[in-house]
Amino acid sequence: MSSADTHCPYCALQCAMTVSHASSTGEKATTVTGRDFPTNRGGLCAKGWTSAELLASPQRLRMPLLRQPDGTLAETTWDEALDAVALAFRETKATHGPDANAIFGGGGLTNEKAYQLGKFARVALGTSRIDYNGRFCMSSAAAASNRAFGMDRGLPFPVTDLDDASTILLLGSNVAATMPPFLAHLAGARAAGGLIVVDPRRSATARLTEDGAGTHLQAAPGTDLPLLLGLTHIAIAEGLADRAYMEVRTSGFDALRRSVAQWWPERTASTTGVPVADLRAAARRLAARRAFILTGRGVEQHVDGTATATAAINLALVLGLVGREGSGYGTLTGQGNGQGGREHGQKADQLPGYRSIRDPDARRHVAGVWGIDPDEIPDAGIPATALLGELGGPVKTLLVAGSNVVVSAPDVDAVRARLNALDTLIVCDFFLSETAELADIVLPVLQWAEEEGTMTSLEGRVIRRRRALPGPDGARSELWIMAEIARRLGAASTWSIDPAEVFDELARASEGGIADYSGLSHALLDTGIEAYWPFRSESTPRPFTRRFAHADGRARLVPVEATPPAPTDRGADLTLTTGRYLQQYQSGTQTRRATELHAARPEARLEIHPATASRLGIRDGVLVAVSNERGTVRARASVTTDIRHDTVFLPFHYAGDECANRLTEAIVDPTSAMPEFKRTRVRVEAIPDA
Ligand code: SF4
Repeated sequence: MSSADTHCPYCALQCAMTVSHASSTGEKATTVTGRDFPTNRGGLCAKGWTSAELLASPQRLRMPLLRQPDGTLAETTWDEALDAVALAFRETKATHGPDANAIFGGGGLTNEKAYQLGKFARVALGTSRIDYNGRFCMSSAAAASNRAFGMDRGLPFPVTDLDDASTILLLGSNVAATMPPFLAHLAGARAAGGLIVVDPRRSATARLTEDGAGTHLQAAPGTDLPLLLGLTHIAIAEGLADRAYMEVRTSGFDALRRSVAQWWPERTASTTGVPVADLRAAARRLAARRAFILTGRGVEQHVDGTATATAAINLALVLGLVGREGSGYGTLTGQGNGQGGREHGQKADQLPGYRSIRDPDARRHVAGVWGIDPDEIPDAGIPATALLGELGGPVKTLLVAGSNVVVSAPDVDAVRARLNALDTLIVCDFFLSETAELADIVLPVLQWAEEEGTMTSLEGRVIRRRRALPGPDGARSELWIMAEIARRLGAASTWSIDPAEVFDELARASEGGIADYSGLSHALLDTGIEAYWPFRSESTPRPFTRRFAHADGRARLVPVEATPPAPTDRGADLTLTTGRYLQQYQSGTQTRRATELHAARPEARLEIHPATASRLGIRDGVLVAVSNERGTVRARASVTTDIRHDTVFLPFHYAGDECANRLTEAIVDPTSAMPEFKRTRVRVEAIPDA
């Protein structure tokens, strides 16, 4: 029997678990049990409980696969596969230049892998073309936090601070489905009648406001920004603003006040559909102390996502909530290492330590760690959606690690066509994901419980992921894969395959940056130390208590305007919003293969209001076509009053005909490059005789 204390492979709550592995008389069994930890207090959701099944899944990839002349994928040796990868990178660079090679990473990779992937792109390939799926997840909130606070730490306070809140304004996050153990932290606010949920759906989380536990503000999709501007207007107009706090801790109030002057309650109500009385009550509750404002992807995955997150921060600052124990603003990170994944150099414009790749001092420091000349580090690349737009054009060879873009990117039919237009597609995965199915070379990798590493949770806490059992023969770590390719390419620098050594290098590379991990090590984390960055100077879960991270120590109030884009799809009269199921995670690569989870949620369902369904002649359970100018999705109708009459909902976990991202558009937020996932015009029709 072997066992290890580790954390869940899925979301950023990073619930603590113990993985136990028994092997006797040829029978192997792996189990997980919840472990006490501040975020989950021993609890796990259905995804966590069932995570061990996938370690022994018969669908695991156990040998590299190589595309054959007849179009099929066939098993091959590691040497042959890696030689083919190196040849593709080398020939692409020789023929088309370094930026014709590209990397697409993931927010679920460990800190060590995220770091090594950024280094691999810049040093081994010499390309600027690297970005990752966190661009589709945290980029808007990150951009807003960096601008306002000078630092992006998802929750700049421990999750347990929420326990004593009397009011929590939760915008665009269905935590009852995404991270159920988190609900324990909402209990105090619910008991006080102060859970306020903003969501166009009566989601499982919105239902938690019923029976006196709070209020559901069922705003129309895409009106979160006007809602927040209106709440800020009320706060100022009713004298709820904390002028003394703003005087000392912020700058920019006069401009902010002018920017919300036009958002009087009646205008806000008519724009959002939220009654004036509910708006006023929400603003007054938030102004009383012990209040938190939390945002999620529902308000951030828009073309105005950065402006909306900024408006949420503005409201929190106007009310004096940020940097005080017992109140605050935070964003609920989605992917398991969504925080660490954006700190170590996977982003197109960043170097390790969350530093700008354009900063000469950062380039010098990181180049010194890598043992290369600063001029050899390429310039900033381009964000994920633009990078996917270059596939088959300027980009000829792509390596994907920890991402299933054929399901998760906007306008996936166009993405699929571009992937097929590449000279060479290389995918690292433990299953044959929909993206891996298109690859020329598939490299099988280890799963979370089969190797060592670290993650950084939604609280900014650096935690250890530990090895509980060996992986299947034939699967390898991405660290080993990168080292082998780098060796074949004759790349400069050193390429350790030991996660502890890679972490030490990461810590050195991050030294002096915003996300400074220097002083930390696997050995130190193994002592059980509570670790936050910047570790050496101030390892605190509440980094804004005394000052914000801007040079003058003040937070910035940044005026933003609501300018909703005009709908582009003619004839489409409903708004599609997308979201999550409790039993599925992200693109579903893992959870669609878990027996219990698949049985509970085997397919996508289109939620549609009874009045809308009746108008369109749609009955509950019938197959419908959801269409716009980009494509068509087929799903069974789920007729429910949980959705507004002008809105329909699809989960985005499914592939093929059920893939919601066949409908979403590759338009992006101008600041963060976040695509618009939450507001797409569609038409819905019953499929005759289906
Ligand atoms: Fe895993 Fe998130 Fe569920 Fe916790 S809430 S068990 S981290 S998926």
